[in-house]
Amino acid sequence: MIFDEIHPAFWDRMAHLLGDEFSAFVSSYDSPSRNGLRVNTLKIAPGELLTLAPFDLEPIPWEPSGFTFTDDEHPGRHVHHAAGLYYIQEPSAMTAAALLDPRPGERVLDLAAAPGGKTTQIAAMMQNRGLLIANEIHPKRVWDLAENLERCGARNVAITNENPERLCERFEGYFDRVLLDAPCSGEGMMRKSAAARREWSPALVDGCAMRQAGILDAAARMVTPGGRLVYSTCTFAPEED
Ligand code: SAM
Repeated sequence: MIFDEIHPAFWDRMAHLLGDEFSAFVSSYDSPSRNGLRVNTLKIAPGELLTLAPFDLEPIPWEPSGFTFTDDEHPGRHVHHAAGLYYIQEPSAMTAAALLDPRPGERVLDLAAAPGGKTTQIAAMMQNRGLLIANEIHPKRVWDLAENLERCGARNVAITNENPERLCERFEGYFDRVLLDAPCSGEGMMRKSAAARREWSPALVDGCAMRQAGILDAAARMVTPGGRLVYSTCTFAPEED
């Protein structure tokens, strides 16, 4: 039972935040999960993929290129995935790039980019035109990012492997749009990840909040006046959000 695997302080805080909705929130941990994929419009239109795909796809109401599939389907193993026709991505994760609303020809920074779910979405929205910088601080994760960008045919992207502060020294006020999809305590991952359940603690939340404040400051300094900054996490903790 997932409930017992998670620190009681998490449930106490969620009960306080959600009030009457708390019992529905707890029940959601035992209901089947919904998997998502986003069609890579750099390579194929959503309608065309629907005619090709040998598995059932249900449209996601808020994302025209997003679809859900059930646990029995394995689109990640299909040759269409290897060909970059879609990216496996949680339906909720598709909202950050939609809110960033990048346009072809702009200068855009994805500051915490690996493995590239949102970078590939941004490149598709930019129709491969303009400059997209995808930064990832951890060298090992850069390889996954590069592989996904190549698979998806994203050609307007330069990858950097920098700490946000140092990037800021070169790019102050430079970008029309900056996405900071911040490293976080991952509360939104606790339903599907036993490691996320084990690792959560109030101290982890405090540590993440401190780190995020520093990265957010650097992110804000790189946006041009009148530009747009989107900050996203996969956690519920108010300290981090
Ligand atoms: N945007 C990615 C996607 O959609 O596929 C997921 C990004 S993940 C939530 C957060 C990323 O922040 C991780 O790749 C992690 O390595 C990176 N990160 C960790 N510490 C960081 C720091 N101090 N500054 C910038 N990025 C950091």
